[in-house]
Amino acid sequence: MRTGLDMARRLDLSGRVFGKWTAIERSPDSGYWKCRCTCGIENFIPVSNLTTGKSTACVKCGHKGDGNGARHAALRRNGEHAERSRTNEYLQAAACKSRAKIAGLAFGFASVSECAQWIRANTPTVCPVLGIPLIRGIGARHGFRNNAPSVDRVDSKNGYVSGNMQVISFRANAMKNDATQDELERFARWVLRG
Ligand SMILES: [Zn+2]
Repeated sequence: MRTGLDMARRLDLSGRVFGKWTAIERSPDSGYWKCRCTCGIENFIPVSNLTTGKSTACVKCGHKGDGNGARHAALRRNGEHAERSRTNEYLQAAACKSRAKIAGLAFGFASVSECAQWIRANTPTVCPVLGIPLIRGIGARHGFRNNAPSVDRVDSKNGYVSGNMQVISFRANAMKNDATQDELERFARWVLRG
């Protein structure tokens, strides 16, 4: 997998033609290339979809000709969509990147995919703060929300760089973010009183 990914990252496809697509430039998300269809529409297409012939035109142009065009185009569209968003780690990484941008913090990864890989590799089975199981593959919007892995910045003044990140439970992250230091100390004293 890793070598495939590295290869996709290195491939220079500029100017190359894949059906109606012409590759224009490498996307900031490794593994994708910005392509222009003969109709002028531009889109980011996974390199593997280009090299394997899975994607040969934009969705609109894919409809023409072949009677199954529309169905194929829909499958392609869903395939590309799934490729980008199938993992919660990818969504988490994308959220990190946008939060970094909004807050003017560092984002220490070359791409969202790279950040997602870091998150995947650094998600423990148990929340290091609360000791509850971390359940991968669930998002904060689904059930077991408290057990969803969540990226925490150890020092909230610093950005999303690997040395300042840890994966903890959504519950622990919410507690940390909701309460001030003073509130947490008061709360802990109150719980532990007597
Ligand atoms: Zn087109």
